Amino acid sequence: MTNQASKSISIHPNVDNGINPTDKSFKGGTLQCKCDKDKVTIAISKQCSNTHVCGCSKCWKPKGALFAQISTIPKANLKIITNNTKLNILDKTTAIQRHFCQQCGVHMYGRIENKEHPFFGLDFIHSELSTDKGWEAPTFAAFVSSIIETGTDPKDMKKIRQQLKNLGLTPYDCLSPELMDAIAISVYKRNK
Ligand SMILES: [Zn+2]
Ligand SMILES: [Zn+2]
Repeated sequence: MTNQASKSISIHPNVDNGINPTDKSFKGGTLQCKCDKDKVTIAISKQCSNTHVCGCSKCWKPKGALFAQISTIPKANLKIITNNTKLNILDKTTAIQRHFCQQCGVHMYGRIENKEHPFFGLDFIHSELSTDKGWEAPTFAAFVSSIIETGTDPKDMKKIRQQLKNLGLTPYDCLSPELMDAIAISVYKRNK
């Protein structure tokens, strides 16, 4: 019975039934939007990094999932191959500009245009949009408390944090310590 109760919460389809391991020899693949035809296709020419699930309200999540799954890729390793014209920017005022398919709503990539931003030069992708196997596995959960902002009952948070831990995804209410350090290092260098 407890199994059934914990199964009712979907963190993300890529992690709910066990996480596929990273293939160390993997060199990238293609991502496609969810349109039936004339799909937006993007080629990624490198293994991704910093893979995690994200609870913030901005990242694109598949239907029914509480979290998005995000990875980073140097923007030089991302190339739009087909149906570029279907893409539009969701909100030009956000640090990460999310380029989404106007027909199916999927976010294909996020890009930072502010050169001062600590993660400038990195694009954000959802490797689940690929049928290629071997992408880097997620290792932590970011912005966990933010799922309350989009309607999760605060009473469920303890159970959800435990579910994340059971999956090996350490829950943080911001980014991981490594990424928070990277942001602080960039601020220090800029202010020196
Ligand atoms: Zn689409
Ligand atoms: Zn997010």
